[in-house]
Amino acid sequence: MDLGVKGRRVLVLAASKGLGKACAMAYAEEGAHVFIASRDAEQLQETAKEIFSVTYNPNIESVVCDVTNGKDIENMVEKIGRIDIVINNTGGPPAGQFADFDDSDWQQAFESLVMSVVRTVRAVTPYMKEQQFGRIVTITSSSMKQALDGLLLSNTFRPAIVGLSKSLSQELAGDNILINSVGPGTMDTERIRAVYGQEDESSMKKIGEKIPVGRIGRPDEFAKAVLFLGSAANTYITGQTLVVDGGAMKSL
Ligand code: NAP
Repeated sequence: MDLGVKGRRVLVLAASKGLGKACAMAYAEEGAHVFIASRDAEQLQETAKEIFSVTYNPNIESVVCDVTNGKDIENMVEKIGRIDIVINNTGGPPAGQFADFDDSDWQQAFESLVMSVVRTVRAVTPYMKEQQFGRIVTITSSSMKQALDGLLLSNTFRPAIVGLSKSLSQELAGDNILINSVGPGTMDTERIRAVYGQEDESSMKKIGEKIPVGRIGRPDEFAKAVLFLGSAANTYITGQTLVVDGGAMKSL
């Protein structure tokens, strides 16, 4: 299937590691012009080199951007100019119970998980409306559908993205801008190892055995779902939520 991604300008946020990097790699493999953004310039350079070494795609550019900072987002989009496809992503919020968080923790999680998406969509949609094409995919968590133990901030703000995306899907569809959310279950990244506090392979294997497919997911498996929803081959899916979790979630 031709995904219609070749030559498209794709911005992947929080893309120097983990799921963001895997998405950037997937678009690079399809011949897109990929912009990767995160906070650490050196790490971004390394990631850009790694993506080139795997895909031989010369069109990989890095932009330093802290997605919790509105000015950074504005500057980044102004610098890039036209953007066809955006993958929203950010670092995960801290784990904890209600009593562990004060107002500033709540504010930070809101800025990171919700306002980053609001500001990015605000910045890129004028370009997308002008060209009558846009695909937006937000990386969330399976907590957008089912609460996770000890991840209160995620359980609160991920569903907010589902509501936001549904409303935006109604407003933007007439301009051929489609927006969807994809939630990882347990994919093998630095973040997930930190959340589980597990570094060694046998412990990770045990966690994987509790998942119906019998293992933890790979970031590239997650990226394939994002790639399709965030491609020109997706012409009719918008306002939807998809989890990539090997069957872990029991809710409908
Ligand atoms: P990861 O391996 O820790 O990678 C996080 C990436 O985000 C890094 O590139 C990091 O680079 C960047 N980042 C963090 N804070 C940022 C900020 N303020 N501005 C810009 N970039 C930022 O994490 P991951 O596992 O890929 O997770 C990605 C997202 O999926 C997170 O929100 C996580 O909660 C969610 N998620 C993941 C899983 C999973 O199974 N992996 C499950 C559920 C939800 P810098 O630090 O250099 O900026």
